[in-house]
Amino acid sequence: MKVAAEGKFAFEEIGTSEIIGFVSCGGCPGKKAVTRAKMMVDRGAEAILVASCISKGNPIGFPCPHYEKMQESIEKKIGTQVKLIGWTH
Ligand code: SF4
Repeated sequence: MKVAAEGKFAFEEIGTSEIIGFVSCGGCPGKKAVTRAKMMVDRGAEAILVASCISKGNPIGFPCPHYEKMQESIEKKIGTQVKLIGWTH
């Protein structure tokens, strides 16, 4: 929340930002990530960021084993509508 408001780290690409939604992947294997990302776009999100805990495994070095498929599926569904960023901080 703090880095979004300050436009730091991954948010440097898009500038100071307001978080309008925050959802989980829906549980292994992340099947609800796509519909949840689409829902946020329908509610006005201009960018979707996948948290670094999923893509990089921060802070314990254990990334989601489904991250690449999840990101690919989100991109296929809404990649032309909004900016997709695969990390946060
Ligand atoms: S490991 Fe990945 S798919 Fe499973 S609950 Fe965590 S983020 Fe979701």
